[in-house]
Amino acid sequence: MSTSYVPCVPPGLVETALRGAPSFQVTVQSLRGNISVLTGVGGNIIVLPGPDGKLFIDAGFSGSRPQISSALASIGPDPVRQLINTHWHFDHTGGNEWLHAEGAAILAHENTRKHLSTTTRVEGWNFTFPPSPPGAIPAEVFEDERTVQLNGTTIALKHYAPAHTDSDISVHFTEADIFHVADTFWNGFYPFIDYSTGGSIDGMIRATEANLAKVTDNMIVIPGHGAIGDKSQLAFYRDLLVGTREKVAALKKQGKSVDEIVAAKPTAATDAKWGNGFRSPKDFIGDVFQGV
Ligand SMILES: [Zn+2]
Repeated sequence: MSTSYVPCVPPGLVETALRGAPSFQVTVQSLRGNISVLTGVGGNIIVLPGPDGKLFIDAGFSGSRPQISSALASIGPDPVRQLINTHWHFDHTGGNEWLHAEGAAILAHENTRKHLSTTTRVEGWNFTFPPSPPGAIPAEVFEDERTVQLNGTTIALKHYAPAHTDSDISVHFTEADIFHVADTFWNGFYPFIDYSTGGSIDGMIRATEANLAKVTDNMIVIPGHGAIGDKSQLAFYRDLLVGTREKVAALKKQGKSVDEIVAAKPTAATDAKWGNGFRSPKDFIGDVFQGV
């Protein structure tokens, strides 16, 4: 792994997201088992309403509270009860403070609490996050696995070995067979890999192989970003990660610089579709280059 390489950074990506959050459009999509997903206001948010109160998986951007609140009202009148963070990033935990103020107990992996509790630098975003306010910090954390029962539903949580960060967890709604794989999967966009807090391309590939070992034909797969997916899309994504890693590693081994590898267009076949979102082909190749 290179120590001298400085990743290319989209200018002001975090600042742009924070500024835009109040005007982003939220979309509510009903899945099965009374479970809905909210998209467009940060990482995908899952909501399970019911007599025990609403359960959330992830909290979106802080500034998107108004849109998220009206989306929640459209889902039902139950009060806010429980929030689970899939990892520590601001687009998944930004709403922690207000959801906690409305009554949500927050549960996450122990590294999510660790990163939210301190000043944390993300080189890949060229941004330093201050410690989160006390209300946004998960009060309850776990190390490897945890099962939550709420609204007659079993919610199985499992920590990944470091992948996108060192705090990623998967969430399986057992009865509805809905599998949220956090930011280990970006459906239709090149992924961001946060090397500053434990992520790596090899960790992303390991997590994706673990996801594929679990996924079935019937399962609904929720990515951290992008449209609701399934087994075939997850398999395509695995091939994309593995193929890009192989090509970039071979060129790096020949002594090519990251700029030369970008110019060789190792991801040309998918750039038009996958390179127009959060990470450009150049960003993605830089993220892979850093880890091989
Ligand atoms: Zn993330």
